[in-house]
Amino acid sequence: MTARIPFLPMQLREDGAAVRAAVARVLDSGWFVLGPEVEHFEREFAAASGAAHAVGVGTGTDAIALIIRALGIGAGDEVITSPLSAAYSALAIQMAGATPVFADIDLARLTIDPAAAERAITPRTRAILPVHLYGQPADMAAIEAIARRHHLAIVEDCCQAHLATANGRPVGTIGAAGAFSFYPTKNLGALGDGGAVVTNDASLAARIRRLRNGGQDRRYEHLEFGVNTRLDEMQAAILRARLPLLRGWTATRRRLAAIYREQLAAAPVIVPPELDGGHVYHLFVVRAGDPPDARLRLRRHLESCGIETLVHYPVAIPSQPAFANLSPARCPYGEIACAQVISLPLHPGLDDGTVREVAAAVCTVR
Ligand SMILES: *Cc1c(COP(=O)(O)O)cnc(C)c1O
Repeated sequence: MTARIPFLPMQLREDGAAVRAAVARVLDSGWFVLGPEVEHFEREFAAASGAAHAVGVGTGTDAIALIIRALGIGAGDEVITSPLSAAYSALAIQMAGATPVFADIDLARLTIDPAAAERAITPRTRAILPVHLYGQPADMAAIEAIARRHHLAIVEDCCQAHLATANGRPVGTIGAAGAFSFYPTKNLGALGDGGAVVTNDASLAARIRRLRNGGQDRRYEHLEFGVNTRLDEMQAAILRARLPLLRGWTATRRRLAAIYREQLAAAPVIVPPELDGGHVYHLFVVRAGDPPDARLRLRRHLESCGIETLVHYPVAIPSQPAFANLSPARCPYGEIACAQVISLPLHPGLDDGTVREVAAAVCTVR
């Protein structure tokens, strides 16, 4: 049964005509991989993101992995990241051949705790990979200071943070490069998989452009061990149709989030503070209180009110079986967050009244 207030309906809305026209344009062109749509999108997305270069790739995961590889980081090297994220953040580190090392989160911000990241540094550490989780930028000023002190690269996971800024600076341009995902549910989504790397470093962009295309600069000349992960023309055209709407969508997300904040001020949940005005609210996440069943009760109550919720994320990444081979990580705050977080409906198609209704339902949980 679909909820009366679904978490995220995926139908086309005010973008419908432009998306359909974009699909028709690509069908008529007869050109489907690495062509003019991707080239135009790369320029347009770089400009929107405040970066000098963008390179389209197949997924956000590949974007992260290729940045790490292009920085010359691989086997035997460690990359420090957050235990609270989509597991793909850490899987991408493994894909590049490096070893993820988990540093606990700051429980207020829900992003990597810079002090914990600094404690996790070893002689093998090469990079820190902060995740701008839920659309809120990580504490980049502190992370930059640590990276500078220890000569580490910063790779930004911007998969939930399109158009976000940290202290006014566009995410993805603070470290060596930023990885974006265009998975359909993201703030800028394709109708399939897609991703991009943004960077101000021309040679890094060129290296990633080569790596994504089998290691070729020119056809049939494989200069290094590349992979095949390209943003296709159809998805690029769809993204071009939606990109002009992204600023407005982001403003709507921020406005709706402000309503949630106001209406939830006295609710029996913890509302994580907005610590940077550059937060783009990919998700609106609250924490249920201390009793172990508080989240389950809240989710059931909201479900009985016809409101669909999700959990991002129920399991800390280092606790996933896929990472059981790593030396165990101690991330107690990450574990607490995974037990308490709950994502409320938030997307540009919601109206103020519906947000108030969801907030009112949260307030009446017992
Ligand atoms: C979505 C997401 C990814 C992975 O992106 P894909 O395009 O699905 O590969 C990585 N990190 C975070 C934080 C994400 O939200």
